[in-house]
Amino acid sequence: MKNISVVRSIIEKRVARMAPDVKCGVYIAVFRLERGRRIRVGALGEFDFPAGLYFYVGSAQRNLPARLARHERRRKPLRWHIDYLSTKSRMLGAVVIPAKREMECRLAACLERRLARVCDGFGASDCRCAGHLFYASDWP
Ligand SMILES: [Zn+2]
Repeated sequence: MKNISVVRSIIEKRVARMAPDVKCGVYIAVFRLERGRRIRVGALGEFDFPAGLYFYVGSAQRNLPARLARHERRRKPLRWHIDYLSTKSRMLGAVVIPAKREMECRLAACLERRLARVCDGFGASDCRCAGHLFYASDWP
């Protein structure tokens, strides 16, 4: 992921959207929050989420299409950190990369250099990253 603008062009063209042929891998799911609001993220606590775009880095080493479909669904039990945001925002699409789980954190590190990380620990319960959620007020 050399440049976040690549992500933008891919999503806008919807080339990678849902990517039903990719069954496992890592992904960046992009959500738009229309209005800023305070959201409780499970045990992490409450955070102010400004309006804008949220980039969530995840990994699904099986059933990736089902995972993305779940992210997109707004009615669901709140289980993962991202559920607290995805139920209140609209998923614009996702970029998927067929890769092992280790790439998930490398991808998060790439986004960390270009975007603002928000919510310490978000989506990073199982790794050493500071978080897997990133924010931009508009497309970078
Ligand atoms: Zn990580």
